Amino acid sequence: MFDLNTKKIKKFLRDTTLESEVKFFQETSGFSSLKAGGKCICIFFVINIKELCRILNFLKKADISFYVIGGGTNTLFADDSIDAVVIKLTGDFDYVKIAAENKKSGNIISAGAAYSLERFVVETAKNGFDFSFLAGIPGTVGGAVAGNAGSLQSGICRYLKSIRYAGLKEHSFSSLDAKISGDDYAYRSFKLDIFPVITDIHLTADSSDRTEIFKKIRNNIKIKKSAQPLNTKNAGCFFKNPSAEAEYSSGEMIDICGLKGFKYGGARVSLKHANFLENYDNASGEDIYILSKIVKDFVKKRFKIDLEYEVKLVGF
Ligand SMILES: Cc1cc2nc3c(=O)[nH]c(=O)nc-3n(C[C@H](O)[C@H](O)[C@H](O)COP(=O)(O)OP(=O)(O)OC[C@H]3O[C@@H](n4cnc5c(N)ncnc54)[C@H](O)[C@@H]3O)c2cc1C
Repeated sequence: MFDLNTKKIKKFLRDTTLESEVKFFQETSGFSSLKAGGKCICIFFVINIKELCRILNFLKKADISFYVIGGGTNTLFADDSIDAVVIKLTGDFDYVKIAAENKKSGNIISAGAAYSLERFVVETAKNGFDFSFLAGIPGTVGGAVAGNAGSLQSGICRYLKSIRYAGLKEHSFSSLDAKISGDDYAYRSFKLDIFPVITDIHLTADSSDRTEIFKKIRNNIKIKKSAQPLNTKNAGCFFKNPSAEAEYSSGEMIDICGLKGFKYGGARVSLKHANFLENYDNASGEDIYILSKIVKDFVKKRFKIDLEYEVKLVGF
């Protein structure tokens, strides 16, 4: 199917004028902070909504799977070639816009899904909006919303008013809007299943003192740097934490199992934070995946708890 689907895509590109760049047989490891993973058929760097819908409609008709990637900081790809296309947003989707408060909609901050989350935290802070709880989290705004990035205490989706997404309407992809209510988010999950590709988000937040916000940003980054291995190849916390009332966090349980520094192939449980699995020595996707299974087994035996993946696994 890989070759057949490649042919179909090449024909589509011959018959269609696209400004979006397409690269064939790309290593997915290049798009994941874990730096592991095999080839995909191609990656589309999609620059605007018109081309996004055109590409999605072609893929649907041709029955070719696709995976959306943001910064790849929460994704582990398998080593085998995946018979799928990767979609990465860029161009028109890389912006932030902060408007004077619109009393009617309450939407004052808009951002494209491709916009860097780290830049988002700084740009909104400059305008007096406090998203300091997201400071130091890599990746894109789209990836952050898809996974409700943040912590057990707060996630980005709490501030959402609406999203724009490329979704199916009457069997064809078009640009659609969805209002978001308080019920649509939970810790590290985004409940709506209506979207395949988020393109824009609209949020609101209370304004506060800029100096104070920047102080909080600096402080949160300092805490992150001291507690997490920010300069190794990892994907943040590999497993979700159990509920806020649980006796131990996932990292604490893994640590109590004595797994800090435990290695499988080129993958290792971080010495600094046990919920971080690292590619420390040319690990394959399989090395990291098997290490995650070993960790799950230990925690299950000792605590009778099934750790749930926070990282998105593709092709396993
Ligand atoms: C050092 C480090 C520290 C981290 N600390 C934290 C932390 O404190 N809190 C936290 O929550 N996370 C943390 N993470 C994990 C990760 O950075 C966040 O979850 C981030 O929000 C993921 O964004 P991304 O763009 O990289 O997503 P990706 O890995 O690219 O994608 C993640 C998921 O979102 C989907 N997705 C991406 N873009 C879109 C889109 N436009 N439309 C629809 N679906 C989309 C993907 O298909 C995938 O399922 C950390 C990661 C690292 C490496």
